[in-house]
Amino acid sequence: MKKQKSSKPRVGKIIFKKEGDLPMAAISMADMRSNKTGKWRSTRPVIDYSKCISCMICWKYCPDAAINIQDGKPEIDLDYCKGCEICIEECPVKAIKSEKEKK
Ligand code: SF4
Ligand code: SF4
Repeated sequence: MKKQKSSKPRVGKIIFKKEGDLPMAAISMADMRSNKTGKWRSTRPVIDYSKCISCMICWKYCPDAAINIQDGKPEIDLDYCKGCEICIEECPVKAIKSEKEKK
């Protein structure tokens, strides 16, 4: 069955028609792969594979796409991991711990 179009206006959608309409914000001039956010890190996540249940929640939540999957297990790419620790927070079995970054 074909869905009826609603006559209600869409709420919450903001459309910027030209560059000058955009709010002031910091932007990166480089693409994600050339911006090695690993340099920002003061702590590093370390996975204890004996506890890891391969749920891939850490992979899903990592904001820098710094977790790769190798043979069904997560691997952290330290070139891109910025040490935000979201993966540590989200891991359901506490298989990731934080270690102070060596200088
Ligand atoms: S610490 Fe942050 S950036 Fe690094 S792997 Fe975990 S979620 Fe990704
Ligand atoms: S969230 Fe934890 S248990 Fe799940 S894949 Fe990542 S390290 Fe393993």
